[in-house]
Amino acid sequence: MAPRRVDILGVGFDRVDLAAAAERIIERHAAGQRTFVITANPEFVMLTRRDAELADLARASELVVADGTGVLVASRVLRDPLPGRVPGRLLVPAVLQLVSGPVFLLGAAPGVAERAGESLVRRIPSLLIAGTYAGSPAQENDASIRERIQAAEARVLLVAYGMPAQERWIARNLPLLPSVRTAIGVGGVFDQLAGRVRVPPRIVHAIGFEWLWRLAFEPHRWRRQRVLPVFAALVARQRIFGR
Ligand code: UDP
Repeated sequence: MAPRRVDILGVGFDRVDLAAAAERIIERHAAGQRTFVITANPEFVMLTRRDAELADLARASELVVADGTGVLVASRVLRDPLPGRVPGRLLVPAVLQLVSGPVFLLGAAPGVAERAGESLVRRIPSLLIAGTYAGSPAQENDASIRERIQAAEARVLLVAYGMPAQERWIARNLPLLPSVRTAIGVGGVFDQLAGRVRVPPRIVHAIGFEWLWRLAFEPHRWRRQRVLPVFAALVARQRIFGR
């Protein structure tokens, strides 16, 4: 039997596509189970190589999904293919369609989470946004942010502090947030929902070129994408020599 997760340079990815990821989150949520979801891309995988704490945190999280083409291609190269991409941008509405309870949107620049919330409510009129707050990922703000989330009795928490700050934030704080069942690190999703950055057209998504689209419209990202050739080389090495 294949191992539970697909190992890509030491990060285990769950064998789910978008629909299966949303389903698993919703089932766990309905059963009162807590789920910390990481939407991981090659940059995240590369960060874990230099950061054992981040690697441990990914191992401990309940669901690690392949956010983007790079991870999917890597899984195919390693002959242990993942079933599909799970971009945060699509996972968030898919989960919120079906999940019950108040939602809290944490992170992004001031005002962005509010607008993202409004956009989500337009799409999903039954959605209850219990609170939004830009805040800051610095640890000294944790306690006051947790108070807001608890006061809102949030069941779902979306955190947009960019990776790996958002994953660290969730790992530190989720155990201290009894009301929250589902927590997802969502990166730039609030910016996309708020219309601050352009969402790629369907065709660009279908052919797997979202990363190139984002690079074209958010050129500052090239610095982060510099690690991609190294990622590709290390995946090739894992294919030849194993881990
Ligand atoms: N962000 C923030 N506080 C910070 C750093 C980042 O609120 O200290 C937000 C930023 O405004 C953006 C999101 O985190 O909305 C990160 O987006 P990015 O596209 O970089 O996400 P990633 O690709 O890192 O997941």
